[in-house]
Amino acid sequence: MGYLDGFRVTFNRLFEERVTTEYPQEKRPKPERFHGRHVLNRYEDGMEKCIGCELCAGVCPAQCIYVRGADNPIDDPVSPGERFGYVYEINYLRCIHCDLCVEACPTEAITESKMFEFSFANRQDAIYTKDELVVDDDGKPQRQPWELWHDGDDALTSGWMRATAPSGSAAHVGQVGWSGELGYGVRSPELGQTAPSDDDPDGGQG
Ligand code: SF4
Ligand code: SF4
Repeated sequence: MGYLDGFRVTFNRLFEERVTTEYPQEKRPKPERFHGRHVLNRYEDGMEKCIGCELCAGVCPAQCIYVRGADNPIDDPVSPGERFGYVYEINYLRCIHCDLCVEACPTEAITESKMFEFSFANRQDAIYTKDELVVDDDGKPQRQPWELWHDGDDALTSGWMRATAPSGSAAHVGQVGWSGELGYGVRSPELGQTAPSDDDPDGGQG
């Protein structure tokens, strides 16, 4: 291709519809299951869901979660389990928001909000501590001064859907496992979680 052909290609592109947006002035709507900054959820009675099992840390491909569990104080338990997450940290300089930690968590303690616009002045601030990650008394993510939240970023943070059957029961194959949240965040069931079959060739998406 001669250089004139190259100019023609470039010139023609000027009249095509743009696929890029002028971020940050223009922001595209986020999908319902967008992965952003994590939260550590609590039950309606205020108990923390994390039981300090470290499964999330074990599965994390970026090795950015640090958890230490401790026995619950008998007189003042933090979680309903035998143990609770005594230390919980996520290093956001490493996190790739793959959500494997969310998949691995047996109690749905860790889920993700849709907030991803945050920046830090030093490396230490990029390591979120448990105090920053745990939801407030209304079950909503705490908003840190260096974070930019938008409407809806804190909604549906705990409505994570599992594609496999809850508790391994075959009767629940294709059913959705929900985690309740404090008054909001429960999604409507979505379709398309079953394998295509002769009766349902599009896997429930039709
Ligand atoms: S989203 Fe992925 S990379 Fe980030 S903490 Fe969870 S498992 Fe690790
Ligand atoms: S967040 Fe979930 S997987 Fe991670 S330590 Fe707590 S209970 Fe275990």
